[in-house]
Amino acid sequence: TVSVVLYTSDLRVHDHPPLRAAHEGAWEVVPVFVRDPAVDRAGFAVPNRLAFLADCLADLDRGLKDRGGRLVVREGDTVTEVLDLVRQTGAGEVHMADGVTRFARAREARLRRVLEADGCRLYVHDGVTDVVPAGDLTPHGSDHFAVFTPYYKRWADVPCRMPLAAPGAVRVPSDVRSERMPRRSALADVSPGLAAGGEREGRKRLGSWLSEHVDAYEERHDDLAGDVTSRLSPYLHFGAVSAVEAVHRARKRGGAGAEAFVRQLCWRDFHHQVLAARPEAADADYRPRHDRWRRGADMEADLAAWREGRTGYPVVDAAMRQLAHEGWMHNRGRLIAASFLTKTLYIDWREGAHHFLGLLVDGDVANNQLNWQWVAGTGTDTRPQRVLNPVRQGKRYDPEGSYVRHWVPELAGLDGPAVHEPWRLTALDRAAFDYPDPLVELSDGLARFRRGRGVA
Ligand code: FAD
Repeated sequence: TVSVVLYTSDLRVHDHPPLRAAHEGAWEVVPVFVRDPAVDRAGFAVPNRLAFLADCLADLDRGLKDRGGRLVVREGDTVTEVLDLVRQTGAGEVHMADGVTRFARAREARLRRVLEADGCRLYVHDGVTDVVPAGDLTPHGSDHFAVFTPYYKRWADVPCRMPLAAPGAVRVPSDVRSERMPRRSALADVSPGLAAGGEREGRKRLGSWLSEHVDAYEERHDDLAGDVTSRLSPYLHFGAVSAVEAVHRARKRGGAGAEAFVRQLCWRDFHHQVLAARPEAADADYRPRHDRWRRGADMEADLAAWREGRTGYPVVDAAMRQLAHEGWMHNRGRLIAASFLTKTLYIDWREGAHHFLGLLVDGDVANNQLNWQWVAGTGTDTRPQRVLNPVRQGKRYDPEGSYVRHWVPELAGLDGPAVHEPWRLTALDRAAFDYPDPLVELSDGLARFRRGRGVA
């Protein structure tokens, strides 16, 4: 017997329920990844994520080869390609992970229809991407949690399934055609500081981070220059690291830092369960605030300055330049840059979310769109009118100014926290720095936001 394992954003061999189930139920397995142009059209095909994906696929192929198998890569419509494999190999089962986006759900429904008409069964495994599957926890009277803390309290009590070992051997039929593996080196416009992808890299990072750095996490996770967070987000996004395994290993490690890390992992599941219940929140306000977002040439000019990291607010510019250089940004930077765009510049959160998705290696519909909505006050934040002051945030989370000096070299000559307020220098001193004046006074930005949103 033959089973097909359809890989999507779960690119690993360890703790992989679909691979495990296929391996146990069939003599031969066809692990396949389909490069589907529909995924690209839905906004996935940006250089940073394609580059990371190429690394993940190459490493998955290696992981399967170590076990006597290989990864089959196809290009085309996912359903057509899977059906072709099923017919060619006579497979009786297809196994895959579940997904929460509209795209994933429509793909799954189509696949089920087509396969069942052909006499093949589709098994959709949950708990592959999330720790607690979307929809498993619901508050009284609703289909999802709209507030994080009560969700976390329930989530933390759910017994989490044990991680699965990778199968010892994977037998793949020899006559199955595969396209060439995509190569990272063939891609243009990849951020120069982009991390290397792949399961081995992700597992190495998880191991070293838990053994060497996690203890500092609770106290220092907001420290921009310290950079002590795990940087596991792209590996989790592509499924090169299992969130279930990360939770188990962190709990085993124990301590306040590990606990804070597990709580942070819960945010992924939280956003996934919101999006699964409200798929339209990918583009529409989760809680409509009837904003009169700015439009027109002035707005476009401010948006361009924000994108390019020349707003005149050093910590905002530093964060935006980190994003361009690494395809990744520190969480505190994301909060500051997003608050600045939506509240200080009063520009629609969708503009910011779109720019982030164009660069973020961990760019993810649920986590990106819903975090943007959280900051914009149109999402699940219980304090929707809160505005982060970029100067105070900079002084608090980059007290020595070294994060800013690293990413905004024009200001490297300024010592200590003075780097957060270059406008305080004398005109003569300022002329020495080729750095723009602030786009807007913070008090003017605040007044405009309040007027637009109709907040007294
Ligand atoms: P750590 O601090 O080490 O946290 C561990 C893991 O927990 C992360 O890898 C991530 O998987 C998860 N996590 C942490 N915080 C959040 C959060 N607020 N929401 C969801 N998951 C979280 N994260 C993404 O994975 N993809 C995105 O597209 C994304 N877009 C964002 C946009 C904005 C405007 C904001 C404010 C946040 C966004 N985040 C996104 C969440 C968060 O910034 C990143 O997950 C985090 O910075 C990744 O760094 P890390 O792996 O070192 O995180």
